[in-house]
Order: sequence, then structure tokens, then C-alpha cells
Amino acid sequence: MHRAEETTVASYADFYRRSIDDRDVFWAEQAQLIDWATSPQTICDYSNPPFARWFADGTTNLCYNAVDRHLADRGDQRALIFVSTETDQEIVYTYRQLHAEVQRMAAALQGLGVRKGDRVLIYMPMIAEACFAMLACARIGAVHSVVFGGFASGSLATRIDDAEPTVIVSADAGSRGGKPVPYKHLLDEAIKLAAHKPQAVLLVDRGLAPMQLVEGRDHLWGALRESLLDAQVPCEWVEATHPSYTLYTSGTTGKPKGVQRDTGGYAVALAASIRNIYCGKPGETFFCTSDIGWVVGHSYIIYGPLIGGMATIMYEGTPVRPDGGIWWKLVEKYKVSVMFSAPTAIRVLKKQDPKYLSQYDLSSLRSLFLAGEPLDEPTAKWISEGLNHKPIIDNYWQTETGWPILAVCNGVEPTPTRFGSPGKAVYGYNVKLLDDQTGEELTGPNQKGVIAVQGPLPPGCLQTVWRDDARYVNTYWSSVPNQLVYSTFDWGIRDEDGYYFILGRTDDVINVAGHRLGTREIEEAIAAHPNVAEVAVVGVADQLKGQVAMAFAVLKDASQLEDPDAMLKLEGDVMKLVDGSLGAVARPARVRFVAVLPKTRSGKLLRRAVQAVCEGRDPGDLTTMEDPGALQQIKDLVAGV
Ligand code: AMP
Repeated sequence: MHRAEETTVASYADFYRRSIDDRDVFWAEQAQLIDWATSPQTICDYSNPPFARWFADGTTNLCYNAVDRHLADRGDQRALIFVSTETDQEIVYTYRQLHAEVQRMAAALQGLGVRKGDRVLIYMPMIAEACFAMLACARIGAVHSVVFGGFASGSLATRIDDAEPTVIVSADAGSRGGKPVPYKHLLDEAIKLAAHKPQAVLLVDRGLAPMQLVEGRDHLWGALRESLLDAQVPCEWVEATHPSYTLYTSGTTGKPKGVQRDTGGYAVALAASIRNIYCGKPGETFFCTSDIGWVVGHSYIIYGPLIGGMATIMYEGTPVRPDGGIWWKLVEKYKVSVMFSAPTAIRVLKKQDPKYLSQYDLSSLRSLFLAGEPLDEPTAKWISEGLNHKPIIDNYWQTETGWPILAVCNGVEPTPTRFGSPGKAVYGYNVKLLDDQTGEELTGPNQKGVIAVQGPLPPGCLQTVWRDDARYVNTYWSSVPNQLVYSTFDWGIRDEDGYYFILGRTDDVINVAGHRLGTREIEEAIAAHPNVAEVAVVGVADQLKGQVAMAFAVLKDASQLEDPDAMLKLEGDVMKLVDGSLGAVARPARVRFVAVLPKTRSGKLLRRAVQAVCEGRDPGDLTTMEDPGALQQIKDLVAGV
């Protein structure tokens, strides 16, 4: 095994160019940032495009790189800082303690029958045991599939059937605003709904909500842990291409896609990004405010900072409880040097008393990174001033890529940011702007095109869609005519200096508070209501959350349209239906009822026209529209809100 060696480069432009033109040499160097059991000789096998196999003949282990390799140098330093302002807990685990906990969890999973390649579904709140479970899976070569705790039984059941987990790890409850949010009954319901049944369920009992244990299936972590205090579970060396996890994300269809990530490429990409993009150093503290249910949580709460030898804060709670200074208090207390959040969270903080920003010593903080949704200029300016002009760094990426496509790489060369831009193409990504109709590359400045990436995608990006190679190719690599390129499904422009600006999605995906939702999924949930004949869901601009979902439904029993009380009740019923099947995260802001939906003569729903009307914009060319009155009714309804 060998350690990273320093490489010096002249400029970011050179660094970037080498990553594309001299790809294998470049990534062979980056590969030295992690430890390998067998060093890879093959760097990128792209013999079967668009499938890229990175470091294919190398063997390694994600957990080894995140935990074990630090024991010698920093075993007694902080690794995981678990803070819950919901339950008033603060527990610090050193690398050595984390190592012990992960081995206990790994032994528990093995005892429940989990073997290399088996899936383990993790449906948990933001508690330390969720981190142990993820790392334990990586340790034994199992594939984890974390499902966001805000999803309800319907979403969970779909994911259980797709992942077919041997074991599910969960808890009695999460907590929000000081109130328990029970999980166990949703899990039981999901297992009932799913065709696949897990062999066992491992439950963390936080004492927040009563749990009914299913005899023979359910096991309590607390009791198992006690019997495994001295467990020693060696790391399973896996091929670099061995899947480490799947993570479901929304797209154009109602069925979420299982984004499948490898092991070696992911570890290398994260190690390099901590150094080149986030500029985190071993022994420092990284505070990412996301949730482990999202990709940002996988990469920058769990794996990235730990691979980089940093301490990572795992925070359960809201940014404003007990008060709007809580995050800054943690920055001071744990000397956070790198912070990572989302624009919505900053817009929430903006509504708080500005005194919180000056109340704490924030001198340790070097930069605040924001991602997941567009960063508007007023929010960026507000937080930049509040943090005494420390760099606020927007970065753009997707569940699929696992780490940024666009950013400024200050670890390579200090680079100024531009308001409204997440920066330049990140090394390894051969980013192109393409004409969506012809596939032609747009090389001039300020031309609008689809943001695409020429293959191979760099290490760390999705390998495929879980058990569905055809869907991977057909969804991501076939949407631009005449070109085998990965489509991000985002519109963008690039200025004369190479800074990109994101102009929104090209598909029906919406972004609510940085959470990605498919309008089709919400439509399917609403269509399950017995009185709903047809429904259209669109994303509408919102000052706080970026976008919110608005639903317009046609009723089977149109006589109800005349009765405002019945409408109000129906709206509540539909929202409850969405809560119960997808989770409150997908609940539309409003559900309005209309006589007819605007469609083209060929029957295609005019979602973009509906969205434009909701946002007070011109709906554009409506010559193909079947019934112009349909849009007028929506206009009237929106005007009445
Ligand atoms: P997700 O897979 O949930 O991370 O969502 C990815 C999508 O979020 C992207 O395709 C963009 O539409 C949007 N997104 C992510 N980061 C940014 C950003 N920095 N600026 C604008 N949009 C972003």
C-alpha cells in the first residue's frame, strides 16, 4: 500500500487539460490519495462505452480508507461528531471508537446473514448508528441503499423491491422540531406492501416512539451491540468496480432510478475533491448540513471527510432550533474549517436575527460551499457579508455524479467566484454545451445549450442504473441527437472565461429546497385518489424553497367543483395521500381542481405552459393547444391565490 504524494501544478487550466488529454496518467496520480490492497495497473477501461470501469484491476475497501488507515496517525482524534438538537445529545467518536462501533455493526449484519454483494437498506434518521451502518456495509462488501427518512411507505416499498435487501436497518423514530417522527410503522407497512421480504430488520431503539417487534424478524441493535463489544471484522478487499451503494433519484418517469456507485473510483474522486475543491486538511473539521438520505450526505457527511482524515459533524435538527445561531455555535465549538450547505438553508437563516453571525468566533471557517439548487445573488451576498467576505462557493452536481461537475478548484489554484455561477468545469469532466435539437457543440460564449459530459465520466460517477444497464444508456446517453454523451438534463450557458450558469432542467424534474422530485412520481401518487381522473404537477418558483410543487387535478365527479368546502377537504385528502405514499417532502404546496388540463392536440400535457402561467410569465406558443380555455382557468385560479 502506498500513500499520497504531493504533485505540484502550474495552473488550474493545466490541471484540467491534463485530466482530459492525459487521463490515465492524471488519475493514476490521484489514485495515490487512497490506500489499495492491490494497486491498479489499468486506470480507465472504456472498451465498452458508455460504461467506464475505473481502476478495474485494483482492490481496496471504502471503510478501510475512511477509518482504518487513519488509526496509526490519528486514532485518538475526532472522527464523527454526532449532534442532535432534537434530543440534546452530543457524542464525539474518535477514529478508534468509530472503528470499534463499525466492527460491532459489521458483525451484527454478518450475524443476520449479510454477505459480500448483498444489499442492506438503511432507513434512518441522522444518528451515529446510520453512519456505522453505512461504513459497516462498506467494510464487509455489502451494498447499502440509504432511503431518506422523509419518505413514506409507498416510496420505501418501491425501493425495497428494487434493491431486494437481505437486511433493513432502521430506528424507532426520527425527530423534527422536538417532536418524534415515528419510522417503524412506516417500515412495517412498506415491508407489507413490498413483494420482497428482508430476512431481518435491525432496529435502533432511541426511546422516542413505541415499537412492535416482529418475532423472528426484528432485532434490537442495543442488545446485539452489547454481545459484540469486542467484535473484530476485517475489511473485505473488493474489486475497485464492486458496487458500494445504490441511491434512488427521480427522473422523468414515475419509477425512481437506483444510481449505482463503484468503490475504488468513488474513493479516489472523493479524496481528490476534499483536497482540490473543498480544501479540507486531515485533523480539521468538516460540517455538511445535508442528510445521509441524499448524495451530498453520502459524499460529504460520511465518506469524503473521513477518507480525508477529517472530523465530520452529523447534525440532527433544524438550523433555527434552539435558535438561529446553532450552526455557528458548532462552527466555533468544533473549529469547523469547511462548511457545506444548501441555498434554502441560508434563506431560512436570513430570516433570523443577524446578531447570530457575529456572536460566535468563526475564524476557523475558511469557506462555505453551497449546492443542490441555484444560488441567488441576494442570498449569496447576504451570507458573504455575514461571514466577513469569506468565500461562498457554489458548486453544481447531481446524485448521478457523486461529486461536483462545476466548481472552482481553489486547492489547485485560487480562483475567483462569480455571482450566479457555480464555476468552471471540474477536472475529469469533459463538459460540453450542446444544441438539444441537433447535438451540435456550442463553442461560443453565452449560448444556451444542454450541459453534457463527453465519456468516459470521471471516477466516482454512476456506473449504471441498478440492474438496468439499458435504462442507464437510454436515459442518460441517448437524449442528445447524434452524440454519445451524458446528459445532465440541465440547460446552461458559459461565459467567455469558462464560467457556467445553470438555467434549469430540461425535463420534468423539480427542485424543492434542494430536494429533487419527479413531477411524475407526485402525479402518480395523486392519481391514486378515487375521485381524481387526471393530474398535472409543475414546479413553481418560490422565494424560500427555490421551487414548490403545484398540482392541478381533473375530478371524476365534476359536480364537486361547485362546492368550495368539498374542494378544500379534497385538497387536504390529496395531500394526505401524497404524505402517506411518498412522504411530506413531496407534498404539493397547493392542489387545485380544474375542469380540463391544457394539452396539445396530440394529447401531450403542456406542463411548461402551466408553469409559466403560475409564475406570471408568458406561456409561449399555444397554437398546438387543444382547448385554450384550460389555461385560462388555471390563470384565474392562480390569480385568486
Ligand atoms: P440532485 O441529484 O438531487 O443532487 O439534483 C441535481 C440537480 O439539482 C441538478 O441537475 C440541477 O438541476 C440542480 N442543482 C444542483 N446543484 C446546483 C447548483 N449549484 N446550481 C443550480 N442547480 C443545481
